[in-house]
Amino acid sequence: MKIAVLPGDGIGPEIVAQAVNVLKGLQLTVEMTEAPIGGAGYEAAGDPLPNATLQLAKDSDAVLLGAVGDWKYDKLERHLRPERGLLRIRKELNLFANLRPALLYPELASASTLKPEVVSGLDIMIVRELTGDIYFGQPRGISTLENGEREGINTMRYNESEIKRIGRVAFEIAMKRNKKVCSVDKANVLETTELWRQVMIELSKDYPEVELSHMYVDNAAMQLIRAPKQFDVMVTGNIFGDILSDEASMLTGSIGMLPSASLDANNKGMYEPSHGSAPDIAGKNIANPLATILSVAMMLRYTFNDEANAVRIESAVKKALSDGFRTADIYTEGTKKVSCSEMGEAVVSALVS
Ligand code: NAD
Repeated sequence: MKIAVLPGDGIGPEIVAQAVNVLKGLQLTVEMTEAPIGGAGYEAAGDPLPNATLQLAKDSDAVLLGAVGDWKYDKLERHLRPERGLLRIRKELNLFANLRPALLYPELASASTLKPEVVSGLDIMIVRELTGDIYFGQPRGISTLENGEREGINTMRYNESEIKRIGRVAFEIAMKRNKKVCSVDKANVLETTELWRQVMIELSKDYPEVELSHMYVDNAAMQLIRAPKQFDVMVTGNIFGDILSDEASMLTGSIGMLPSASLDANNKGMYEPSHGSAPDIAGKNIANPLATILSVAMMLRYTFNDEANAVRIESAVKKALSDGFRTADIYTEGTKKVSCSEMGEAVVSALVS
């Protein structure tokens, strides 16, 4: 197993260190090599995705990423900003399928801002397309019109094959779950997503056992809060998925609980927490490392086909939670508030016991 470890910025290095300890705790034969990305890449090589980092990622079986970004880079030219490094590595590695499970651990039902009866038992898989849509579509930019007024342009576009390949990922995952796919679009207003809906319907003929439904994104945002347990697999484009998966994360108690996998066509993947670099709490050793640790479980499951060790990590996380350990973001009265590193240690010792 060859893994590129890219801690990135903000809380990235703190949470990745804990995930690496958990991986080491499994005592597998793993080769891990660290490299800078995001603001750290800019500092080290003047580029948010240095060539050496990209090469390392290409030469590895999987990438473990922390997070990128810091407000101090907001004034840099756009192509030098940390987030560009992240978008580029996803594109360069052709990681078109982003899987974001939103699973509520029963121990955290009271940490959610929603009523326990609304969220308990929640288990949604959000499948987000990651390399297309308005985040990549051309033309884009800010220009000045003839009358001197400035105009900003982004372009939402998807072609048929891009929609088909992400749809297939969603249907395949649904086959291993409750066989329900909800495709989220805005087909009443946007032609791009009208095509999205048509292609999903065509594709569903290959999966007669799966029940396909459609929902407009505004309604989906509402339904996720109103009755989230109605969903099994949700599939959607890049921008809608970005927003809905953050929303879904709060159902689970904290964004610090949500792992993610981004896969190419051969299941090579990049694994990272769904949250950002949280500059507001960076360096304080209080971040929740569980999303990153659970991302390692996804890595073992999807890239290395090692279900047993994936489950071992997930069980260790459950044990740490049922033993009452909580980082500040998921803390409730009567539980034990611990630091980022103490939470990591709790998971490692649960792994052994
Ligand atoms: P964020 O996800 O970093 O933080 C949002 C809020 O959640 C903050 O209050 C933060 O403290 C909290 N939070 C996030 N992760 C946490 C964790 N593990 N434990 C406890 N609390 C946690 O989003 P933001 O503040 O909008 O963005 C901060 C920076 O991160 C920006 O530069 C942004 O561009 C970048 N960002 C990066 C990624 C990524 O690397 N994948 C994703 C989103 C945002």
